[in-house]
Amino acid sequence: MKITYQQKLTFSFLIIFVFFTAGIIVFEKYRAGKFKTEALEEKLDICSDIIHHYIQQNPEDQISGENLLRIFPEDIRITVINISGDVLYDNIFADRNQLENHADRPEIREAERKGKGSDIRTSASNQLDYLYYAKYFGDTYVRVALPYNVEIQDFLKPDNAFLYFILIWFMAGLLFIHYVGGRFGKSIRKLRDFSRNTIQRKEGITSIRFPDDELGEIGDQIVKEYIKLKDNQLKLSQEKAKLLQHVHSSAEGVCFFNPDMSVAFYNGLFLQYLTIISNDTDLETANFLYDDIFRPVRSFIESDSPETYYETRIANQGKDFFVRVNIFNDHSFEIVLNDITYQEKTRKLKHELTGNISHELRTPVTSIRGYLETILHSSMSDEQQRMFIEKAHLQTLTLSELISDMGLLSKLDDVPDTFSFREIELGTVIERIKSDLSEQLKQKSIRFTYHFKPGLVIKGNENLIYSIFYNLTDNAIKYAGENITIDIRQLEIKDGFVYLSFTDTGKGIEDENQLPRIFERFYRVDDGRTRETGGSGLGLSIVKNAITFHGGSILVRNLQGGGLVFIMNLPVA
Ligand code: ADP
Repeated sequence: MKITYQQKLTFSFLIIFVFFTAGIIVFEKYRAGKFKTEALEEKLDICSDIIHHYIQQNPEDQISGENLLRIFPEDIRITVINISGDVLYDNIFADRNQLENHADRPEIREAERKGKGSDIRTSASNQLDYLYYAKYFGDTYVRVALPYNVEIQDFLKPDNAFLYFILIWFMAGLLFIHYVGGRFGKSIRKLRDFSRNTIQRKEGITSIRFPDDELGEIGDQIVKEYIKLKDNQLKLSQEKAKLLQHVHSSAEGVCFFNPDMSVAFYNGLFLQYLTIISNDTDLETANFLYDDIFRPVRSFIESDSPETYYETRIANQGKDFFVRVNIFNDHSFEIVLNDITYQEKTRKLKHELTGNISHELRTPVTSIRGYLETILHSSMSDEQQRMFIEKAHLQTLTLSELISDMGLLSKLDDVPDTFSFREIELGTVIERIKSDLSEQLKQKSIRFTYHFKPGLVIKGNENLIYSIFYNLTDNAIKYAGENITIDIRQLEIKDGFVYLSFTDTGKGIEDENQLPRIFERFYRVDDGRTRETGGSGLGLSIVKNAITFHGGSILVRNLQGGGLVFIMNLPVA
């Protein structure tokens, strides 16, 4: 059990009071006793004087002393002793020869030295207790003794009234101290309750009222500071919750580390990225920092450099990551991972594409310039001039085809929303293509057939659907050879898609490895030869992108007897 402040105070004062009071009582008892004894001895002194005076005046009565005894109390014992200690007279013992020499009696010896002496003891003569008082008168000692009985003992006893008085004061003082201690203790108790409740997180602790004293003032101040602290804590935790929510939904992988490099917090994306980057994904130990791939990051963290920011790139399993490290004031730090695979790929593609485009543009432009310069600077016949102009014109056609193909592709990439969907009857589109390319088909003796269920309707963008089949037919005309058959066939309808085959019985593509690449932008199987035929290298890219845009896909195979077959699917209405 704990002792309260009030109990401690009361107990301390109790001890002080007990010592103090005991001291006073002992001192007072001694003083009162001494005072009373002195008073009695004074009386006995007067008695001795009277007796001595009487003996002087009545030497003849010395033996009987009857007259003398009449004036003294009955039980008084009077003894006259000469300087040798012999008893000359004793009113109790008539036969003084019975009495031994009194020279060694303590009161006599004291009287011998000081003129007067006293002693309380049992008489050796009659075995009674006496208070002896002896006085030296030059020739004799007069000794007066009173029986030391209850009466005299009571008289000599110090007065107990003082003792009671002191005890009452003592109790009153103690009660007062207890009360004052209680008042002090109230503030301390309230403070203690406050701190207990704070630890136990009880409600309503902020409404504690302290007594109106200095301790209470301190208590009020502490409560005020506590409320402020609580408010700030609440705000801080709200801000922290917001921040964590933000980090959780962040598009970046974020991990916070303590100064000792242990992990404090991470989001799901960080773990996801870490599984790609490192084999060790134990975020409890953070051992992944010791992975070779993280060496530059770790070197920066462990360096004494004043720099607080570091960035680098990490590539693993075909993925690219941008890594940022921020070191905070308390030496904790964060690592932020950003998946930049797509951006990297796009950047590379764009870089390649820009190169390709300029290359593709340069060829016809250079040719046109060459033809025109030849016409301008050399003298030639009208017929020759016309031939050069026709060649230049052909190059401008290639150029405009290239520009229109690039325009369509970038439209598909950048603003696909601009392509509106509607129901398209596939037969009508194919018929249109057949008629638009009839001249070329005829020139190369190509048979063009198609087999759909009557009224096959596709949900798509008419221009794109037209582009898909136009490009495929145009390619067959350009690359498959003469005297062949083009056939478009409905294979099946499944899950809202119609599966179609586009077949030509031409030469196909010899190198099987090149097959999947023919859908890449600017890819040509036989660069020199196909360039001459006027293809931009974008035709099949447009086909693939347009089909993908409709939610379908396309693949290509060589046909066993020669020729190519494209299998694709498009959404049906
Ligand atoms: P282009 O616009 O230059 O025609 P494409 O992307 O349409 O380019 O075609 C890519 C390459 O695929 C062509 O260079 C050609 O060599 C080859 N190719 C396309 N269709 C056929 C086909 N039906 N038969 C043989 N080769 C083809």
